[in-house]
Amino acid sequence: MKKKIVILPGDGIGKEVTTEGKRVLETIASLFGHEFEYDEAVIGHDAIEATGNPLPDETLAKLRNCDAILFGAVGHPTYDNDPSLKVRPEQGLLKMRKELGLYANLRPIKLFDELLQASAIKPEILKGSDILFFRELTGDVYFGEKGRKDDGNTAYDVMIYQRYEVERIAHKAFLAARTRKKKITSVDKANVLESSRLWRAVVQEIGKQYPDVELEHQFVDSAAMKLIQNPRSFDVVLTGNLFGDILTDEASQIAGSMGMLASASVGDTVGLYEPIHGSAHDITGKGIANPLASILSASLLLDISFGLKKESEAIIKAVESTLKAGYRTGDIADANSEKSKILNTQAMGDQIVKQLIANNEQRSTNN
Ligand code: NAD
Repeated sequence: MKKKIVILPGDGIGKEVTTEGKRVLETIASLFGHEFEYDEAVIGHDAIEATGNPLPDETLAKLRNCDAILFGAVGHPTYDNDPSLKVRPEQGLLKMRKELGLYANLRPIKLFDELLQASAIKPEILKGSDILFFRELTGDVYFGEKGRKDDGNTAYDVMIYQRYEVERIAHKAFLAARTRKKKITSVDKANVLESSRLWRAVVQEIGKQYPDVELEHQFVDSAAMKLIQNPRSFDVVLTGNLFGDILTDEASQIAGSMGMLASASVGDTVGLYEPIHGSAHDITGKGIANPLASILSASLLLDISFGLKKESEAIIKAVESTLKAGYRTGDIADANSEKSKILNTQAMGDQIVKQLIANNEQRSTNN
C-alpha cells in the first residue's frame, strides 16, 4: 500500500516520542511491504517562533494533502505561565481540529496486564478494563462565545452544542459499539445544563436507529466516580468536549500512565493520531519520555486510516511482548522492575522495533 503521512512533532517531548512512532511505522512498512512517504511540518510554539502563527498556512496545506497525520503535542512554559499572551501554541491544535473537521476523538483505554501494578488503583478493580471513549471535539466551551465584561472582572465561556454535532459523533460511537459489547454510556450534565439536555435528547433519538445497542446515560459527576470505582462497567463512552477532556485524563490512570495512551481524531477527511499527553516540559530534553503512546497512536493510524488491521495488531503485540519481557520506561516502572530493563525513550523504541522484527520472523516460520 502506498500512503503519504505527515509527521507533526510539535513541542517538548512531542518531538522525542514521534521520532519513535515514525520509526515503528517505517519498520512496519518494510516488514509488510508498504510504501509510506513522509513529510514534516511545524505547529505550536515552534511554529510561533518561526512564523508568528501556531498553525502556519504551509502546515495546513500539507495536512490537507496527506492520508494521515502522526502528531506529538504542543505547549511551552512561557505560555502556561502567562495567560495574557494572545497568540498561543494550543490555538494551533484547536484550529487544526476545526479546519480539518476532526470532530470525534477516540481514546481507547486498554490496560496491559503487565502494568496492573503501575496504576494507583487496585489490580482486582482494574483487571479486564477496556473502554473506548468518544469525545466530541469541535463544540462546547472551547468554541462558544468567550469574553470579559465589568472591566475584566467577569469572564464567560459559553457551552454550546448544535444538533448536527451531536448526531454525527453519536453515529460513530453507536457503530463502534456494534463491534464491541453493544453498550454505550452517554455522559452529560442534563440535570443542570441546557446544552446537555439537547445532547441527551439527540443521543436518544440516534439510539433508536441502533436497537441492538444498549444505551445508558450518566451525569458527569457520577461517571467520574464510577470510572474509578468500577471501570469494567464501561465499554463505549460518548461525551462532549469538556467532560471528555477531563474524564479521559482520569481514565489514563486505569492504563497506568499518560505515556501509554493513544488517541485518534477523525471526521470526514484525514485522520490525526496523537498521544493523549502534552509536551511535558518537566521531562523535555531528558530523553526519558515514554514513547509507547505515540507508538500505539501509529497502530491506531494503520487500523483506522489505512484499514491495515494485521499491521496495527503487530504493533500492539510488540508492545505486549516488550512489557512481558520486563522492559519499562521510568513512568511505568515499579519496585519490582529490573534496573537494567528501565529504558530511555530511544531504547524503548529500539526494543519495539526488535520485537516487531522477531515476531515477524516467528510468523514467517509458522507459515
Ligand atoms: P502533560 O501531559 O504534558 O504532563 C503531565 C505529567 O505527565 C507530567 O508530569 C509529565 O512528565 C508526565 N508525562 C506526560 N507524558 C509522558 C510520557 N510520554 N512519558 C512519561 N511521563 C509523561 O500535561 P501538563 O504538564 O499539564 O502540560 C504540559 C504542556 O502540554 C502545557 O503547555 C499544556 O498546554 C500542553 N498540553 C498539550 C496537549 C496536546 O498537545 N494535545 C495536551 C495536554 C497538555
